[in-house]
Amino acid sequence: MNKEHMPNPKCSNCKCYWKPDETDIKSSGLFFKTCKRCREYNKKYYEEKREDLSSKHKIYYDENRQKINEHRKQKFDCDCGGCYNVRHKTQHSNTKLHQDWLKTQI
Ligand SMILES: [Zn+2]
Ligand SMILES: [Zn+2]
Repeated sequence: MNKEHMPNPKCSNCKCYWKPDETDIKSSGLFFKTCKRCREYNKKYYEEKREDLSSKHKIYYDENRQKINEHRKQKFDCDCGGCYNVRHKTQHSNTKLHQDWLKTQI
C-alpha cells in the first residue's frame, strides 16, 4: 500500500484528520485514536488534574490536622484567673494558683 494513499486517521477528539508519524503507532500496530495535539493536551490536563487532586487532598489533610492540634491546644480560662489546656485540666486544678483561688471561694 502506497504511503501517500493512506488516509489520515480522524481524531476522535477534535475530529481533525491528522498525520501520524512512527511515534503515533501503538505497539499493536494501530494508530492512536486521537491526534498528537489532543494527546499532549490530555496528558497535561490529567497531570494538572492529578496535581490538583493531590494538593486538595493535602489541604484537607492539613486542615484536619490543624483542627486536631487546635483542639489539643485549646485553652480554657479558669475562674481562678489562670488558664488550662484540655489535656491538663486535672493538672491545673492542682496548681497553687487554682488551689488558692478555691480557698477564697468558700
Ligand atoms: Zn485531535
Ligand atoms: Zn483554675
